[in-house]
Amino acid sequence: MRSTYSYLCTSNQLISCVNAIKNIAVLGATGSIGRQTLDIISRNPESYRVSVLTAGSRVDELVAAARVHRPRMAVIARHELLPRLRAALEPLGIECASGDEALADCVDADDIDTVVTATVGYSGLLPTVRAIKAGKDIALANKETLVVAGDLINSLLAESSSKIYPVDSEHSAIAQCLLGEDTAKVRRLLITASGGPFRTRSAAEMENATAADALKHPNWRMGAKITVDSATMMNKAFEIIEAHFLFGIAPEKIEAVVHPQSVVHSMVEFTDGAIKAQLGIPDMHLPIAYALGAHTRLENASAPLSLQSLNGLTFEAPDAGRFPCISLAHTALERRGNTACVINAANEIAVEAFLSGRIPFGRIYPIIASTLEKIPFVASPTLDDYIASNTEARAYATSNL
Ligand code: NAD
Ligand code: MG
Repeated sequence: MRSTYSYLCTSNQLISCVNAIKNIAVLGATGSIGRQTLDIISRNPESYRVSVLTAGSRVDELVAAARVHRPRMAVIARHELLPRLRAALEPLGIECASGDEALADCVDADDIDTVVTATVGYSGLLPTVRAIKAGKDIALANKETLVVAGDLINSLLAESSSKIYPVDSEHSAIAQCLLGEDTAKVRRLLITASGGPFRTRSAAEMENATAADALKHPNWRMGAKITVDSATMMNKAFEIIEAHFLFGIAPEKIEAVVHPQSVVHSMVEFTDGAIKAQLGIPDMHLPIAYALGAHTRLENASAPLSLQSLNGLTFEAPDAGRFPCISLAHTALERRGNTACVINAANEIAVEAFLSGRIPFGRIYPIIASTLEKIPFVASPTLDDYIASNTEARAYATSNL
């Protein structure tokens, strides 16, 4: 009997689809995921071409990337940077635009096949909504989109030809473990966590930790916001929420497990007792390539893992006492409605304040908890309700720093 994989590989339809060049919009092209995405695209010109590049404020880096990749369009979030972008790129025939509206408008052009959402935080929501409505495939790095509005995103996906392919390494691992499986036979999703830079610190030591301490992640080089989210373990709370909406697995079946080596990227336990895992070096190239390729494998996406060089793999339960943010995942998934949207907004404000030295590390969780108490609960939010809850929660958290 042919395996599903060999069947797929001999299907003419898939071969022609794999051989066609895909046009990619990279949102957040100057960031950690954005740059690694462009690296994969550069090394695979027979498979991918850049159509749109966007960035928040790093205009010079956006210009440099556009000079190399020659997109049809480049968009910068901050309006005041548009003249610089135009001066550099319009002579090359690249259309330029700025602002939040342009960041959302740029994703639904006919020439785009896949949108890589690699911006930080809430800014990913509206472009992703537009991309789904336009039927684009999404390589989703911006987990906050599913945290803020997972129910809405899933209802939009149900009415669209768009598909979401996770870039997050844990969710990519779970997607690989679930291939060919019946999700009714899943006992648990085990989402691995490095434990971040404060895994072995006491609560007292963490209380006054600085941004410089929190930014020293042991295994991954990432943007500042997700690195702080790893230090509080809010990142793992977000990933539990993300997994629930991506895979439709009940919240009580999704657990985090601390695995400091970051070699096992996540696991799925089935009802017969089997556990499947995906392993690899800590390198985002593989999950990005797997998402860009709509769950097909790219030759040598990542350097191989040398099993002999491993000094043992360890697993431990997360400590919700020292890392209270992790318990917010189940609060959000039990209450639902706008709960996770409010948590995300308060977290963004608290992390920004922490990174700029205005609050100590120990203030991050209390700011989120008090914002959650204050902002009115909305049971079945519309897109406008999510937008309003985000604005209210940010304003309250800012006033409460
Ligand atoms: P980063 O800070 O390195 O890059 C962020 C990018 O988004 C930059 O290009 C920046 O210019 C752009 N940006 C920032 N604010 C913006 C705004 N308001 N509007 C438009 N663009 C804006 O971040 P990152 O580490 O690449 O993370 C990006 C996303 O991917 C996050 O949601 C993160 O949680 C997720 N993610 C990252 C990693 C990783 O290894 N870096 C792993 C898994 C998931
Ligand atoms: Mg992750």
